[in-house]
Amino acid sequence: MKRAVVMGGSYAGLFAARVLSDFAEEVVVLEADDTIGTAGIGRRAPQRRQLHALLAMGHTQLERWFPGLTAELVAGGARLGEGDEVRFFVDGRPKASASGARMLGASRPFLESAVRGRVAALENVRLVTGRATGLVLERGRVRGVRTAGGEVLDAWFAVDAMGRSSRLGGWLEQEGWERAPVDRMKVDLGYATGTFRRGDELRDTVIVHSSAGPASGYQPTLTEPGGMVAVEDDRWSVVLAGYADDRPGTDPEEFRTRMRRGVEPLRTVADACAMTDEVVTYHFAESLRRDYGRLGRFPGGLVVVGDALTSVNPVYGQGLTLAALEANSLAVHLRSGAAAREPAWGYFRRASAVVGAAWQLSTTADLAQPHVTGPYPPGYRLTRWAGDRITEASLVDPAVDATYMNVVNMIEHPRALTRPAVLLRAARVLLTGSGRR
Ligand SMILES: Cc1cc2nc3c(=O)[nH]c(=O)nc-3n(C[C@H](O)[C@H](O)[C@H](O)COP(=O)(O)OP(=O)(O)OC[C@H]3O[C@@H](n4cnc5c(N)ncnc54)[C@H](O)[C@@H]3O)c2cc1C
Repeated sequence: MKRAVVMGGSYAGLFAARVLSDFAEEVVVLEADDTIGTAGIGRRAPQRRQLHALLAMGHTQLERWFPGLTAELVAGGARLGEGDEVRFFVDGRPKASASGARMLGASRPFLESAVRGRVAALENVRLVTGRATGLVLERGRVRGVRTAGGEVLDAWFAVDAMGRSSRLGGWLEQEGWERAPVDRMKVDLGYATGTFRRGDELRDTVIVHSSAGPASGYQPTLTEPGGMVAVEDDRWSVVLAGYADDRPGTDPEEFRTRMRRGVEPLRTVADACAMTDEVVTYHFAESLRRDYGRLGRFPGGLVVVGDALTSVNPVYGQGLTLAALEANSLAVHLRSGAAAREPAWGYFRRASAVVGAAWQLSTTADLAQPHVTGPYPPGYRLTRWAGDRITEASLVDPAVDATYMNVVNMIEHPRALTRPAVLLRAARVLLTGSGRR
């Protein structure tokens, strides 16, 4: 194709641009935010300031599309967590250590800036500051992207990577196309991230994740849910999360008090480390999925990626990995010989497989919260019961935990947890108490 225009130059837009650089003569990434800068913190995607964990699959995809980037990030101060350096807790209990997965400890701005640097260095990619305001469509296909300056950028192919609040649906509606059906799940989540100076207090810890589970009825009664990541510049990025009225605020002392109700690594940092920055909060009202694949017609030469397609409860850390897997879906679609200027049904079908898996995992877990009132998928009670038993077994049995962590890390589909071998093993562990640490 001649020119592809990516609307939105954050994580998903950058991955899409990397993929398109293999297929288009020229790729233009149009990013509205001129405040992202070298520090990588922009005004328009404020979630960048919250702790971001990159799941193992997201890390694999990062290396796939940007080989050597892990080494670059680690040389710049990021930490690579391996084996026991990655510590998961449920209801305050450490999980059986089983996963061979590696997880990268880096702040979102640091990670995203490195990706942006690599994309900017591609010969046929241009990063441009500007706001997309609409599409020019001709005979049912994308012909250009309108910008705030009144200019039209000719385009053979366009990507919506404008995040959760993308206006693509409205633009298409104005041109006589249908909006995509939207699935929603209200979660009413409060997030707060604090940053601490990192010393020698926990040398062998890179990632900590602590969640409520079956023993507490998924409530923060046994321990404070939260997480922390060792990031560049010798800092800990610490997140606390609470639902409905239990949202953490910006007061630093309250933040430390809540950390002291958490698992041992959180308590250690609360007691030993100085805060380096203000606490920043974020309210996440609902998960949403725009299902373009269910439409009867859609313009040719247009795809949607990242949060513009699906944005799920951040406590499961799936967003960046989803963006990368959608980039893979785009690459496979374009490589399949599909005509780039036709409707990209092949892309939407592939992307919906990964999106569906992430949606299933996050919404099934969200429904365990009493204030989340549906919609309940068919068979929810049984899924939930089985899920609880598998979580319990994963606390003590490395083999069950290996599958569990593969699902959490998006290496395997959630259906892996219902494989007979996994169910039998979990049942045996729970009935005989035969799990090994
Ligand atoms: C509190 C919180 C914590 C999270 N934690 C994690 C985590 O631990 N791990 C994880 O993997 N994910 C996490 N996520 C999810 C992750 O942040 C998102 O999935 C990710 O930012 C999606 O990237 P994106 O590029 O699709 O959208 P965004 O990052 O939102 O970027 C959209 C971009 O589009 C630009 N834009 C918008 N409109 C226009 C326009 N008209 N023209 C041009 N540009 C435009 C914006 O300026 C912005 O840069 C978290 C999310 C939240 C809210």
